[in-house]
Amino acid sequence: MICEMCGRDATFCKKVTIEGVHLEVCAECARFGTEAQKATTKPEGPKPIITQRLEVREKRGKPRDIYVAGETEELADDFANRIRDARQKRGMSQKDLAMRINERVTVLSKIETGDMRPDERLISKLQKELGITLKEKVAPIQMAKESGPRPLTLADLIKIKK
Ligand SMILES: [Zn+2]
Repeated sequence: MICEMCGRDATFCKKVTIEGVHLEVCAECARFGTEAQKATTKPEGPKPIITQRLEVREKRGKPRDIYVAGETEELADDFANRIRDARQKRGMSQKDLAMRINERVTVLSKIETGDMRPDERLISKLQKELGITLKEKVAPIQMAKESGPRPLTLADLIKIKK
């Protein structure tokens, strides 16, 4: 099960109350709260913002595989530049390329400005057509965690409040 506080996959979770919010957390996070008592359930009101945020987070799913797996391949950050450069080197207009890969020009133009991320199918079509690589190996654990913003956890929210 997933710890509702730190998001880690814990083998066993404890029900505790943290800042008035009932959560199921791992043993490590349990020390931030008091054990939940069934007798003291508060009347149902609007959910605290913390709970709402955690629910949103839960819907996004588990932490990505890169945290547990070794190397994975991800779309390169500069995919837009790679596509545009390769296309221009081949003397193709956006329209030319769009026709070749059977996509709409508006889609291609959004991808080249980085407004849209191509899906797997489109990535492979672009790679094939332009003879480029759009994917990069992502290094395991530490590096992957440090790149990009980390989602906010309840622990962060409590730290901010204090
Ligand atoms: Zn935890």
